[in-house]
Amino acid sequence: MFNLILFGPPGSGKGTQSEKIIERFHLVHLSTGDLLRSQIAQQTALGLEAKKLMDKGQLVPDEVVVEMISTALEENPQAKGFLFDGFPRTAAQAQALDILLEIKRTPVKVMLALDVSEEELVKRILKRGQSSGRSDDTDETIIAARVAEYKNKTEAVADYYRKSDKVVMVSGEGSIDEIFARLSAEIEKRM
Ligand code: ADP
Repeated sequence: MFNLILFGPPGSGKGTQSEKIIERFHLVHLSTGDLLRSQIAQQTALGLEAKKLMDKGQLVPDEVVVEMISTALEENPQAKGFLFDGFPRTAAQAQALDILLEIKRTPVKVMLALDVSEEELVKRILKRGQSSGRSDDTDETIIAARVAEYKNKTEAVADYYRKSDKVVMVSGEGSIDEIFARLSAEIEKRM
């Protein structure tokens, strides 16, 4: 199995690059943002609770996303590997993921961390907001709250994986194909 974490701030291109990576490397894509939005679309109790927090730019509770990931791992016993996108987002989620993967006897191989300037991030999110229908992408104060959550809670996740030397920084600026080529090269080295 080959398990990869695609890491980076909101707007860094994780979703876009994930689509290309899973197609080329045949991994199962696990995006907690997509899983949550699917719960919202189905108007489940979990989705309605999560939406309140997401609309404020805040993270949803660790237990909620860890449970979603646990279920998704169980639903994919044939996977050649997983691409985690937008997860883990806190140190507690990273610890929980290690435990879940230990049961499967398959560790996280690498964390590819997309590096994008803050100015470029806000530009990209507002542009995405014009077409995505995502309410958290249209308001600059919500975007700022998401960036703050990232700095306060999520950056620690990179420190967690740095301890086991698993973090590789990749420039997330340039064309989609250029960035994909950089990510692919790092994956090929390790697969
Ligand atoms: P982005 O990274 O561009 O902000 P996502 O789709 O990954 O977009 O996440 C959207 C929102 O969903 C986040 O702002 C947060 O509220 C919630 N969310 C997604 N993943 C997690 C997670 N692992 N832990 C807590 N909240 C999450």
